Amino acid sequence: MISPQTVDDALDALSDTPVHRLLAGGTDEMVKLNHGAQLRQFETVISLSRIPELSMWTLDTAGRQITIGAAVSWSQLTEAPFVEHVPVLAQAARTVGSPQIRNAGTIGGNVATASPAGDGLCALVALDAMATVRSTRGTRRVRVAELTTGPKRTNLEPDELIVSLDVPLTHGFQGYTKVGVRNAMVISLAGVALVVDDDRQSVSFALGSVGPTILRSPAAETVAANVLFGGTHLGDAMSQLAAAIRKTARPIDDHRSTAAYRRHAVGVLATRLIERALISRGASQ
Ligand SMILES: Cc1cc2nc3c(=O)[nH]c(=O)nc-3n(C[C@H](O)[C@H](O)[C@H](O)COP(=O)(O)OP(=O)(O)OC[C@H]3O[C@@H](n4cnc5c(N)ncnc54)[C@H](O)[C@@H]3O)c2cc1C
Repeated sequence: MISPQTVDDALDALSDTPVHRLLAGGTDEMVKLNHGAQLRQFETVISLSRIPELSMWTLDTAGRQITIGAAVSWSQLTEAPFVEHVPVLAQAARTVGSPQIRNAGTIGGNVATASPAGDGLCALVALDAMATVRSTRGTRRVRVAELTTGPKRTNLEPDELIVSLDVPLTHGFQGYTKVGVRNAMVISLAGVALVVDDDRQSVSFALGSVGPTILRSPAAETVAANVLFGGTHLGDAMSQLAAAIRKTARPIDDHRSTAAYRRHAVGVLATRLIERALISRGASQ
């Protein structure tokens, strides 16, 4: 195992070792190894845990952006400044695993794992976050939503590293909620992130665990914007909103849940979040 201490050294290691395995917190990768995945011959494990710049964040209130290092942990995300500035991400972080998992697991690892149940991934898609991806060949910036291409699949090249995530700061309600088979230490059966942008009078919904990737629901976003900004009564729009969310969902049956339950649950979660958004504006309808 090698433990580079700078991003440049990590990029050199990724480029110089044709057979490698990148490790951040190890909470996904070590599970794979414990479940029988084998290290390949001459495989080099490259640890990201000793690179301080990956665990840092920068808040730019004037530029309305927070930049989050890929190795920022879930525990960091449950604290300031995230709670105030990107509450949807802080709320998602609070739902992850146990204190041990939240101390070790990282936001970059969640994105790179590309699970449709990834809680941080769902929040980042709702926030329309951009990833900065580097290799020795150069730097590219890509929407987090476009980085993930399928269940546990990304378009990252083997020599590429997610260095940071740029998250726009918005004024307005944000919330994350999920359901699972129990209340703690649970991977979601369905999850919803809501970001309301009061300045643009727009709404974004991201849906987790109900498709091959995190899904956005433009139809539901229009209904919700009409409720929050157009004066439509929620009572009248509630069933339309849930129907739009359920139409977007493409869930599957698996060992955690049936597709039918997931489809039902995701509609309920989305309407609950809109109710909370209305209450937070003091306009409960
Ligand atoms: C008990 C348990 C409970 C869990 N609960 C939840 C939960 O509630 N919600 C949830 O979303 N997840 C959960 N997880 C999954 C996991 O904790 C998260 O996905 C975590 O964010 C992974 O981060 P990591 O740093 O541990 O990634 P690692 O395991 O180190 O790496 C995961 C993958 O990402 C790649 N990678 C890591 N960092 C980078 C980078 N900077 N650039 C490119 N590739 C990178 C690695 O090569 C690897 O392929 C749980 C896991 C466990 C074991």
